[in-house]
Amino acid sequence: MNPDVVVIGGGPAGATVSTLLAQQGVRVQLFERERFPRFHIGESLIPETYWVLRRLDMLPKMQRSRFVKKYSVQFVNASGKLSAPFYFWDNKPHECSQTWQVVRSEFDQMMLEHAREHGVDVHEGVRVVDVLFEDDRAVGVRLREDGRDRDVRATVVVDASGQNGLLQHTFGLRVWDPVLNKGAIWTYWEGAYRDAGRDEGATMVLQTADRKGWFWYIPLHDNIVSVGVVAPYDSLFKGRGPYAQTYEEEVGRCPATKQRVAGAKRATGYFATKDYSYRSTQVAGHGWVLVGDAFAFLDPLYSSGVLLALRSGEMAADAIVEGLASGDTSASQLGTWGPCFNAGVDRMRRLVCEYYDGFSFGQFVRQYPHLRGTVTDLLIGDLFTTRVDQVWAPMESLYPPEKAPIPPWDAGIPATAAAHKINELVLPDGRKP
Ligand SMILES: Cc1cc2nc3c(=O)[nH]c(=O)nc-3n(C[C@H](O)[C@H](O)[C@H](O)COP(=O)(O)OP(=O)(O)OC[C@H]3O[C@@H](n4cnc5c(N)ncnc54)[C@H](O)[C@@H]3O)c2cc1C
Repeated sequence: MNPDVVVIGGGPAGATVSTLLAQQGVRVQLFERERFPRFHIGESLIPETYWVLRRLDMLPKMQRSRFVKKYSVQFVNASGKLSAPFYFWDNKPHECSQTWQVVRSEFDQMMLEHAREHGVDVHEGVRVVDVLFEDDRAVGVRLREDGRDRDVRATVVVDASGQNGLLQHTFGLRVWDPVLNKGAIWTYWEGAYRDAGRDEGATMVLQTADRKGWFWYIPLHDNIVSVGVVAPYDSLFKGRGPYAQTYEEEVGRCPATKQRVAGAKRATGYFATKDYSYRSTQVAGHGWVLVGDAFAFLDPLYSSGVLLALRSGEMAADAIVEGLASGDTSASQLGTWGPCFNAGVDRMRRLVCEYYDGFSFGQFVRQYPHLRGTVTDLLIGDLFTTRVDQVWAPMESLYPPEKAPIPPWDAGIPATAAAHKINELVLPDGRKP
């Protein structure tokens, strides 16, 4: 029997949308091209993931897991000065204020198994090669498995294919972010510095000496720390040597990072990725909808990717359930959540741009102590409310007018597009998956 919904991709977005659909009695088939566990970057969760994980009934599994508990984020500026930690609990004394640093191969596998347990028909090692259309309506997918093709029909197709963006490419929907044109190189260290107690699992954001980039410092279980440098594409990849050399040079120029990894042993090779900030001009069409990175990816700063994957998965699942019940699976029904979601992504994007333009959290909270809570709300991912918008004017008052970083953001998508740039992840063995 044909499923009601086909989901392309079994990452956090695909697992979320399919579990929530299955929980509500929808028949779902999910196709994932890889066999899990598979490597993925994106290890730091933020507190607002709690609400979706709770709805998924994933919290008991997370609480029993070995993932490092994360209570805060802390910033180190280019001169090595530490901000006070932003403790999520101080802002919101609720168990949602503790989140996790996850090894993604393990987290994604847990999420996909969880989908299976809820009745989703999950197929690994099966690539979706095409979405099938009749007139302008998606009616199913074409699969490739062991070299053979077959078609599966469904009322709704959900594209959760991550940065691959199957439907974005089919329809040329991808708009590259004109400002966030960054790249990243990272590796994993064993035995690197860890704080103690409730600071052990803090994410550190360490600014590079030229203030154009930053390091993430994410403590994981088994005494591993994920340490990556993010910087403008040109400064990281143009005229530089191999990734390993660039990474070491950047660490050498950032004493706060260098001290933390001194004495540690590298546990893997070097990974690199570039050209990853984009958004789709459409969230849905007739019979299809995009979730997670298949819709948009912003930037690694503030670790919003998995939250946005989970939230878009949740919002899309609700729109699909409603649409199936009323017999309306048009673009407007499947995409009802798009404007609200875009506004939330815009808020996170604005916070990201402020940082790249020199915004200092330390300076901000010294000057506007009464807004400390509101800025923490943004950092925990509380993005879908206008309440947090009170921070922007004070934030931008800290810049001289000629340096005002970004024009007022109006919940729209930047119109410039260098279409068809291909994003690439390079694994330590040189492969591009
Ligand atoms: C450098 C960097 C650092 C990051 N750090 C963080 C962080 O600290 N915290 C955070 O929250 N986020 C982070 N992110 C973002 C995060 O990794 C993503 O936002 C998140 O993985 C999105 O989930 P997803 O389910 O949409 O996509 P994915 O996790 O990419 O899942 C998509 C799945 O679809 C499958 N697929 C693709 N094409 C097909 C096909 N044709 N057929 C079948 N299956 C297919 C893929 O194999 C994959 O398993 C980071 C991203 C980058 C680039």
